[in-house]
Amino acid sequence: MTQQTTALPLPPTQEKVLGWGMSVGGKAQVVRPNSLEQIQQVLEFAKHNHLKVALRGAGCSYGDASCGNGKLVVDLSLFNQILHFSKETGLIRMQAGARIRDIWHLTVGHGWWPPVVSGTMEPTLGGALAMNIHGKNAYCVGPIGEHVTAIQILTVSGELRALTPHADRELFHAIIGGLGELAVIVEVEMQLKHVHSGLLQVHSLVGDTLSQVFEIFEQWQHRSDYLVGWIDGFAGGEQTGRGQVHVAHQFKAGEDPKPDQTLALQNQALPSRLFGVIPKSWMWLLLKPVAHNFGMRLLNIAKFWSAKLLAHNKFYRQSHAAFHFLLDYVPNWKFIYKPSGLIQHQCFVPKEHALRVFTQVLQLEQLRGMPTWLAVLKRHRADDFLLTHGLDGYSLAQDFRVTAGNRAKLWAMCHEIDQIVTAAGGRFYFAKDATLRPESFVAAMPIENILKFAQLRQELDPDGLLATDLYDRTVAPALLLVG
Ligand SMILES: Cc1cc2nc3c(=O)[nH]c(=O)nc-3n(C[C@H](O)[C@H](O)[C@H](O)COP(=O)(O)OP(=O)(O)OC[C@H]3O[C@@H](n4cnc5c(N)ncnc54)[C@H](O)[C@@H]3O)c2cc1C
Repeated sequence: MTQQTTALPLPPTQEKVLGWGMSVGGKAQVVRPNSLEQIQQVLEFAKHNHLKVALRGAGCSYGDASCGNGKLVVDLSLFNQILHFSKETGLIRMQAGARIRDIWHLTVGHGWWPPVVSGTMEPTLGGALAMNIHGKNAYCVGPIGEHVTAIQILTVSGELRALTPHADRELFHAIIGGLGELAVIVEVEMQLKHVHSGLLQVHSLVGDTLSQVFEIFEQWQHRSDYLVGWIDGFAGGEQTGRGQVHVAHQFKAGEDPKPDQTLALQNQALPSRLFGVIPKSWMWLLLKPVAHNFGMRLLNIAKFWSAKLLAHNKFYRQSHAAFHFLLDYVPNWKFIYKPSGLIQHQCFVPKEHALRVFTQVLQLEQLRGMPTWLAVLKRHRADDFLLTHGLDGYSLAQDFRVTAGNRAKLWAMCHEIDQIVTAAGGRFYFAKDATLRPESFVAAMPIENILKFAQLRQELDPDGLLATDLYDRTVAPALLLVG
């Protein structure tokens, strides 16, 4: 039985807790429990003192998903032991604060790679499951939740429950993607993917228009392991949405003559220096002088033409880590967006409308004078999770600089985009979101799913202990709207 206590197991610290994009968040009391007992004590303390709790993993969500302005933020990143890993089967079990990095560092040398990874290796498994993250293979393997064989959750009432996708179908599919608002995920068991080489075969293709970029995706989606597109957000007219697609294939058994070598951890690690000389931790300083619309326009043009002239239809080999974690290549690159930070907006649109909608969205941003500085296109498929962002279509993830002067205009533009997206039957992704209004969430999500979520929350957390800033901003008012 859990020992009843009304004291915190460790002293909280007052901290400024921001989203990864540094543009939203606020001051909170933060605790970092490192054992199940400590997490239980923290929840008891919060209940006893009528505090709101915001669960936080590594804080890699761009917006306010793991922020808790004026609340108790429970940072689970020190609850991070890997509990079991089988070299034979690739089954791994870990505490929720273990990071994607911790997994592949342990397993890649044995020929196992996480089935789904994000563009950074820093997220914790708890955070990754609460958002149900997707990778560049979302169109063929779905989100990370489809590879989880079991989770253990701790409810607000102090009950520990083991859930599997088949025996506890409904709750399993609600907790995963449940935004950390139903219970604390404490343990995760997942099936890793067998890889026969530490390398991927990558094929680079360029599309002069968004339509051509989509054609490349359609052409390769049934015969590739990973697909990702980069879009030039500044190109206008006929060239709107031009970009580059990377198509990647895994090696089959026997194709890599030296798998032990290519799978070795040291051959996966990202280099710490550019050209072997410049420490990569300095690189964001080199980018800072071009951190304005004109500079980013030039960078996008340079990237497009170098891809077209030097890389189109070329093949090369890349380590898994280098291919997947491109955004970790330049540490602290987000600092170019200081002082006010950035937001990312990622919308998901059914395949039959995606070309039209994304063209309209890119043109709208140019018209409003706030073109995206970085845009990434991915292909997805539908899945069974309750609050899923997944659908049979495409997503466009776009970074925008926030300034004191553009903040209101930028939020208004995102709301315009949301209307275009919902009119086309599209959805949004809370791991990236900072701007979504409750009415757009209601318009995007089937009402029965929202009502089911409300019912589960009423059962599991009737007093509403778990509540991030995202929950207060969008989900709670949406529950009232559908009421
Ligand atoms: C550079 C970059 C690239 C990215 N690329 C991708 C990508 O390709 N695909 C993608 O899908 N996402 C991507 N993301 C987003 C990221 O994967 C998600 O935001 C992920 O949820 C972050 O995990 P975290 O541990 O940092 O969680 P946090 O951001 O700290 O929290 C995320 C959510 O999880 C909840 N939570 C945290 N721990 C627990 C727990 N133990 N139990 C219950 N709830 C919990 C929080 O309350 C919050 O709602 C990217 C982010 C960055 C910064």
